[in-house]
Amino acid sequence: MSGIQLADRVKLLETESAFEVLEKANRLQAQGMEVVHLEIGEPDFSTDSSVLQAAARALEEGHTKYGPPVGLPALRQAIAGHAGARRGIEVLSEQVVVTPGAKPILFFAMQACVNPGDEVILPDPGFPIYQSVIRYCGAVPKHVPIIEKDDNFTMDLDALEAAITPRTRAIILNSPHNPTGGIIPQEDMAAIVSLLQDKNILVISDEIYSDIYYDEPPITIASFPGMREKTIIIDGFSKSYAMTGWRLGYGIMPKMLVEQFSKLAVNVHSCTPPFVQLAGVEALKEGQASLERMVKEFKERRDILVEGLRNINGFRCPTPKGAFYAFPNIEGTGFDSKTLANKLLEEGGVAALNGSSFGEAGNGYLRFSYANSQENITKALEKIDAVLSSKKTRNII
Ligand code: PMP
Repeated sequence: MSGIQLADRVKLLETESAFEVLEKANRLQAQGMEVVHLEIGEPDFSTDSSVLQAAARALEEGHTKYGPPVGLPALRQAIAGHAGARRGIEVLSEQVVVTPGAKPILFFAMQACVNPGDEVILPDPGFPIYQSVIRYCGAVPKHVPIIEKDDNFTMDLDALEAAITPRTRAIILNSPHNPTGGIIPQEDMAAIVSLLQDKNILVISDEIYSDIYYDEPPITIASFPGMREKTIIIDGFSKSYAMTGWRLGYGIMPKMLVEQFSKLAVNVHSCTPPFVQLAGVEALKEGQASLERMVKEFKERRDILVEGLRNINGFRCPTPKGAFYAFPNIEGTGFDSKTLANKLLEEGGVAALNGSSFGEAGNGYLRFSYANSQENITKALEKIDAVLSSKKTRNII
């Protein structure tokens, strides 16, 4: 007995199954199994060398001390220009808050704006941290299904309308979407806007994948009249610039919230490391060619993966429009998604995530991340096919 008692609050926090599956896959690998990793949501590209050099320079120049809690003026300015131009909206540097990764923006938004008992709408399936943070705040998660529509995944608008109540305090949107790769089309976004327009509901728009799309660019809800004033955009450097381990993210928000985020930052992390922020300034300046190369490569991988999955008996796979995930429906295999995810890993050495680990509506689906080489994706497809056509499997079905 250690004598330490846990607070009730911390028991409400959940984790991400991607990390658990990665651990299990690594264990099997250490035992000698060949494993293809399609579970983790992390670009397999290196950070651009100009960014590495900028960080090294910043370290040598002594940018190793505390900085302003909401970020260096140079980076806030660069983000305002870049993020505003890409989205076609006006962003002032005073609206930008820089944090160690994108996750703190979500956490701080909930801490700043949501009270116990408030309802918060979130996508189902969705990034598992949404529900975790909502529950941690004592708020009530209201799940709205993300459904297949026109070879895409989008929010179920009828379910959204039904989910909005006088107690709805906030809604989390995520487009391009993890885990489905869906992008909310213009007309659906307009419908969402009309449902929210005359209501006092904060929009938390997680746009961490906004640079990774294959056809039509995603549109931000903040570009609709009247929405900028009640939207917090979440974005960052993790995905766009292959900088997951640097921990560099940001929020774009109404100015009146910046002071609250500043207080939260001072209480939690003081500041984001200045040399990392200066590397971020360089990424916005010099990282665009690397970003374009990465997206082009992701598109080729997507096409190989999606075509391959569609050729597997029992799989149905809408075309991912952004991010780097495919989300096939696997009900036709006769397995539930948890069983199939385990089976693919244990028998075939293919690590993928069970769709229901992203919420109940993800049941019947698997998430494959194509942040892996074309060669490994091809190998994974062969392995999946082999598992599903093995004698043992046929007997079970
Ligand atoms: N939002 C979504 C939808 C994500 O998939 C992720 C990363 N997996 C994040 C936020 C967090 O990004 P970061 O690593 O920069 O905190």
